[in-house]
Amino acid sequence: MEIPYIFNIQKFSVHDGPGIRTTLFFKGCPLRCNWCHNPESQSYAQEFILTKSGKSEAVGKQYTIAQLVKELEKDQIFYEQSGGGVTLSGGEVMTQNMDYIEALAKKLNQVGISVWIDTCGEASYDAFKRIQPYVEGFLYDLKLMDSKAHEHYIGKDNHRILENLKQLSRDNAHIRLRLIQIDGLNSSETSMLEIYKWLQLNQVRIEAINLLPYHEFGRDKYARLNRQNDLFCKPTAEALESAQAFWRLKGYPVAIGG
Ligand code: SF4
Repeated sequence: MEIPYIFNIQKFSVHDGPGIRTTLFFKGCPLRCNWCHNPESQSYAQEFILTKSGKSEAVGKQYTIAQLVKELEKDQIFYEQSGGGVTLSGGEVMTQNMDYIEALAKKLNQVGISVWIDTCGEASYDAFKRIQPYVEGFLYDLKLMDSKAHEHYIGKDNHRILENLKQLSRDNAHIRLRLIQIDGLNSSETSMLEIYKWLQLNQVRIEAINLLPYHEFGRDKYARLNRQNDLFCKPTAEALESAQAFWRLKGYPVAIGG
């Protein structure tokens, strides 16, 4: 079985689903968001990045499922006490070798560990279908509703992302929507209203909203990978509060971050 690369195993995460979690970041993504703060997550292959001290370091490591489960079980007590578990993230986990991902999720379920998926939605729905029996919920990113702008800033239109979100809702999945907030691009009340109207029109059931403010933490990594990216604007505190108030008024549990 082809083994995907993982570029980070983040323990004690409280931002990637309920409770205390370990998040596995799989390497490889079909999108190219201009603001991506993990550029090392985009290529499916192992690559090399310059460390801050100027050394070349490999990004991406392969693990057998047994190795991973053994590692993840070490924190099972924290998952149990906090209602947490493991989140499979990326890159884009739903575009990895799904034999591997399904087997991993199944094994985690067998040992009593809950699994959430963090996805950008740009994947075949067959992949979602396969994983659903072993997954408690989905953290689903919606970036831009305008398909042309989506293609411009992200490299692909949003057709499949929106279709998959509708289908996941029809399949009664637990979905938390994650909305990256970039000033001047997608954080205005008009943008929130557009998303809300689309959810209503398509009867998409969302359990909670997370507003993720754009940040510049990953910028130095582009230089260390010998790449370039554009700079965007962080939303103001007032804009974030206003977006939060918008969703609260519409009846959604909403948090900034997470
Ligand atoms: S979907 Fe996520 S990992 Fe992929 S390019 Fe966009 S921000 Fe980066």
